[in-house]
Amino acid sequence: MATDPDCIFCKIIQGKIPSKKLYETEKSYAFLDIGPVAPGHSLVIPKYHAAKMHELPDDSLADLLPIAKKIAVATGADQYNILQNNGRLAHQVVDHVHFHVIPKPSQEQGLVVGWPTTKPTPEELQAVHEKLMQKL
Ligand SMILES: [Zn+2]
Repeated sequence: MATDPDCIFCKIIQGKIPSKKLYETEKSYAFLDIGPVAPGHSLVIPKYHAAKMHELPDDSLADLLPIAKKIAVATGADQYNILQNNGRLAHQVVDHVHFHVIPKPSQEQGLVVGWPTTKPTPEELQAVHEKLMQKL
């Protein structure tokens, strides 16, 4: 299992840094975020250290979302966001893959999303589609 001795989340998994643990499997660990944007804001992380989602083995990745689902249900939130950031520009603060489970109890609490929609032409959309399809 890949670990990084300097990684705060690897230290949490190893119990070297305390956390409010919520759930654990052979491959994953979940705990309360210490800087919540709403009560119940939690993190679900792989035990395998990888900075970005595409660097994580599929079996480890597949273990995470069912846990996010359990936690979302446990919060009792009727509305919530699941968020996973990759890279500084994408607002990733800790370089260890993590999924946020963020209850959205009110307009003011929870995740506030900016969604700068663009309007590509049909040709631009087609070009993007062809580019992606060449790699899938
Ligand atoms: Zn780590």
